[in-house]
Amino acid sequence: MKNSNSAILLRNLLALTTILTFLFGLLTMLAVVQQELANSSANTRTIVRRLKGAVIDDDQDWRNWQVNNGLSSNLTYVHVENRRADAKRKNYYSANAKQLTRSLKPLPFFGGIYYRGDALYAYASGHSRGIYYQVWVNLHQQKQVVKNVLLTILIVWIIVLAISVLFAVLLSDKLTQPLLVLNLAAKKAADSGRGQLPVPEKPTEIKELAVSFNELLGQLYDQNEQEKSFVNNAAHELRTPIAAIRSNAQLIKRRGGEHPEVIPEAVAFIDDESRHMQKMVDELLTLARTDRRQLEKAAFNLKEALQSALKSAQLAQPVQLACPDGLELVSDRDCLIEIVLNLLTNAGKYSPASSQVLVKAEATDGGVRISVADQGQGISAKDKEHVFDYFYRSDEVRGQIPGTGLGLAIAQKMAALLGGTLALADNQPQGTIFTLTLKQERAK
Ligand code: ADP
Repeated sequence: MKNSNSAILLRNLLALTTILTFLFGLLTMLAVVQQELANSSANTRTIVRRLKGAVIDDDQDWRNWQVNNGLSSNLTYVHVENRRADAKRKNYYSANAKQLTRSLKPLPFFGGIYYRGDALYAYASGHSRGIYYQVWVNLHQQKQVVKNVLLTILIVWIIVLAISVLFAVLLSDKLTQPLLVLNLAAKKAADSGRGQLPVPEKPTEIKELAVSFNELLGQLYDQNEQEKSFVNNAAHELRTPIAAIRSNAQLIKRRGGEHPEVIPEAVAFIDDESRHMQKMVDELLTLARTDRRQLEKAAFNLKEALQSALKSAQLAQPVQLACPDGLELVSDRDCLIEIVLNLLTNAGKYSPASSQVLVKAEATDGGVRISVADQGQGISAKDKEHVFDYFYRSDEVRGQIPGTGLGLAIAQKMAALLGGTLALADNQPQGTIFTLTLKQERAK
């Protein structure tokens, strides 16, 4: 797997060690070559100096000098040229020196170095009292040293590579192991319902990843449970009116012929229940649409919007509206009216026709507060915790006052969509106050 952690680590480690070994080798080589060249040219110059001291101007001098200096004829080549007028002989060559000097060529960029074939020679010259000396020293030994250094570097490189491979494999195993465990656990968690991933102590990154995953898994699980219970509740709530409709339809079928007097009541029942179902389906659709509702925010007069909501609500109760005339709000007007209408409908449903409903709006710091207060039966402490849940209805109203238990859930969702909150409190001396707080900027 060329994209696995270990492959990436291995590639990078190999590249790094190769580059480092190459640089290190290059520097070592340069130092060795430089040192070897310096040694050999010093050596060559010493021979020239000794030649200059010897003053070779006849065959005897030349023989003596060769015997005394005992230079290796394989490695050192000497040419003495006597340019004096009284010279008995002009040129003296050590063994093989004559052939060598004919075929030597200077090595480019390296002053004082000559080559023939693959052999290198250090060169030095000098003259004294009309006698000229030239010396070439074969760099065979130095070449051998450089070769050995190269070989050593190569061996070091191979050893370093081998160690790097081993190191990369061990390290990547160590790093990857917790990931593999996590992966396996994630697969298991996907199969079983509420799975949680094991959280390793180290490395920190993987520990944090596992914690985040667990949070995500928890959220997904809760969401899934909520959806399941929503569908369950919806099915349950729809089953009751359907059962009522069917039993009344069967009643008409069985007894309608003989006892036509049961028909009007049964039909009225069917009508009521089907209306209830219609309302529930409508509200379910509203709920579903709220999730992806596109807001159309614009500035509008709040008092006019509230008046419009009051008009649609058509409450039996007398309603008092307290809102400053010029209060403007930038928000989605339709959405706001739907929330207020919802609260007004509840106030109408759950309070006596003779009691008063108060709708109040006021500017707050950076927003507005709109409240709908009724003087109805109020909401018990136990119910307060649940009235915003889907399908929740208090026991007192179930079967007594028509409703779906979805109105407040929709209103709260819409309030959140507008960037606000919907809260409830007791009204004094009795009843309930629902307060919608919006943080949206005001036009003025
Ligand atoms: P619905 O009114 O269709 O039952 P809602 O979600 O609007 O559904 O309300 C949920 C429950 O909260 C109601 O069934 C009722 O018990 C309670 N409730 C809501 N508004 C009021 C109110 N103004 N006064 C008393 N109880 C209320």
